[in-house]
Amino acid sequence: MNKIIRVSSAWSEYYSNGNPLLESESLPKIDFDAGDLLDLIDEDGEFLAKAYYGPQNKGCGWILSNKETDIDMNFFIRKFSAALTRRGPYFGSEETTAFRIFNGEGDGIGGITIDWFDGYGVINWYNEGIYFFRDEILKAIQSVMYFNGIYEKRRFDKSGKYIEEKSFSCGVEAPSPLVILENNIHYATYLDDGAMVGIFLDQKEVRKKIKEISYEGMTCLNLFSYTGAFSVAAASSGAMTTSVDLANRSLEKTKENFLINNIDLSRQSIVVSDVFDYFDEAASRGESYDLVVLDPPSYANSKKRRFSVQKDYRELVEKSAKLTKNGGILVASTNCSAMSIGKFKKQIREGLENQNRNYEILEVYRLPSDFVSNEMMKGSNYLKVVFVKMKG
Ligand code: SAH
Repeated sequence: MNKIIRVSSAWSEYYSNGNPLLESESLPKIDFDAGDLLDLIDEDGEFLAKAYYGPQNKGCGWILSNKETDIDMNFFIRKFSAALTRRGPYFGSEETTAFRIFNGEGDGIGGITIDWFDGYGVINWYNEGIYFFRDEILKAIQSVMYFNGIYEKRRFDKSGKYIEEKSFSCGVEAPSPLVILENNIHYATYLDDGAMVGIFLDQKEVRKKIKEISYEGMTCLNLFSYTGAFSVAAASSGAMTTSVDLANRSLEKTKENFLINNIDLSRQSIVVSDVFDYFDEAASRGESYDLVVLDPPSYANSKKRRFSVQKDYRELVEKSAKLTKNGGILVASTNCSAMSIGKFKKQIREGLENQNRNYEILEVYRLPSDFVSNEMMKGSNYLKVVFVKMKG
């Protein structure tokens, strides 16, 4: 339904400045339905923005336009065409066959992302409001782009969790695994395997850098390794890697990623363990590595403990630094959107100072260019990866 909503002058400024997130405090206390279209007007009745209503883990919907425009198939076609044009260099690449083609509010429609996996599309729906427009959106994307098949993940749960098993939606099903190429390295993906399909595409530049700085005989410890993507990048340049993850599935999936790249498994070790246990064991064995990659989830509960990046990153850095050789490199990463880059660097600094280590920050990576972020929104460029060289 279309509703005209008058907002206060403070909120008028917020919306006319281009903030993309619809905030519930700016709305009157009336009932809205997911998928309602709202014309926001200021106290003088001047048009500010068009939004859709759809509560999510953040906000209660998204601004679709700051101009008066119809929200129909043509609107979606315009947005998708512009997004595809921006990805031109990726489509032209022979070395990379998987990347993001539409990134929510960064591409002008919050609540939906679309990834390209070598001919297949994976759509993530983050709220019921955007899902209300599903028919138009599916038609629009398919009118500007051909997909062999499409998978849809409905992540309406307020924490963005995936809520269904089967996500194949139309076309033909992808092979399982579907092996994609990223900077000439193969990765196995499983498009129907829930929300996590085997690779986090936002780390592509970090994997590329890790491949570049790795060398024959280098030792690499990959903590919270999932399917071992960072290990594969290091091992493809000759590194001997140790991958540590709590999930049983990580063992087979990491092996598979090594094997499809013809990497000798005898030089790679895969440990299914709680990282916190591994820290203690490795320290008591006196282990140390040339490269340590630390990329935990923002929150996790294991049998032993509950941890959050915001609270515990400092401790993770401290323990990881203990396992990093002098002259070696620690790669500290987080995708926690609630933590600013300043706070993140502070936790890294404090962790290293607690270990009395001298260090130098070599480089900081943020989201790659296919994960277009929205400059008006704090936390939109959520990825933060800091390469630190240990100097004694
Ligand atoms: N670094 C990975 C992505 C990590 S996803 C990559 O770039 O591909 C987070 C991973 O952390 C999951 O695989 C999960 O099983 C693992 N995990 C969560 N808590 C853990 C713990 N306490 N110890 C070890 N692994 C853990």
